[in-house]
Amino acid sequence: MPLDDSDVTRALCVAAHPDDLDFGASGTVAGWVDAGITVTYLLCTRGEQGGFDDTPREAMPGIREAEQRAAAEAVGVADVRFLDGFRDGWLEPGHELQREIVRVIRQVRPDRVLVQSPERNWTRLGASHPDHLAAGEATVRAVYPAARNPFAHPELLQDEGLHPWVVRELWLMADPAPDHVVDIRATFGRKLDALRAHKSQTGHVENLEEMMRAWGTRTARDAGWPEGTLAEGFRVVSTG
Ligand SMILES: [Zn+2]
Repeated sequence: MPLDDSDVTRALCVAAHPDDLDFGASGTVAGWVDAGITVTYLLCTRGEQGGFDDTPREAMPGIREAEQRAAAEAVGVADVRFLDGFRDGWLEPGHELQREIVRVIRQVRPDRVLVQSPERNWTRLGASHPDHLAAGEATVRAVYPAARNPFAHPELLQDEGLHPWVVRELWLMADPAPDHVVDIRATFGRKLDALRAHKSQTGHVENLEEMMRAWGTRTARDAGWPEGTLAEGFRVVSTG
């Protein structure tokens, strides 16, 4: 069973690209904010390979950063951070990415970390973009063991005074074997607002609401919930 939201003070949500968290988890995140949890977003890239029109490529990082900040605001998340130096489409779960995520974990000191699953979902290949798998793997490695080990990335402690931190719980989105679903009926409107803030990605989608209702309905149905319910699904791992 996941931690009760009342036992969680801070949560950190990590993803490869702007919009990933909004498609996969923003209904749940809005509920966390309602429960009084302080949420931080960390994006590993600015998604410069995204988009569907002839917007100049060099403009995309700035556009997508602004869109993600607006989307976060729609669900009540004020702290939005971006890593520098990692290219969209080139993300690898190496030590450099791991160290950057450990730094943010030690700065934010979250009880709960949410990230894309590092396991490929063969029934939903689009959700298992290679960058998503890389962000997931690097974050899992950062949560355990690096963030809690003072001898991992020792420069973070020596140079920046960032002490080890134990994350208690990991939530994986787009996992092939979800074991926890969250009712998002009360937050679905805010999730849609967040997705619409990603204009460069969703502006051309005419049936966005229907599409997201279909996703939420399928997730609820797979969990055995009654027709008319909407859910987001996760695999929740206790890491404490
Ligand atoms: Zn993505």
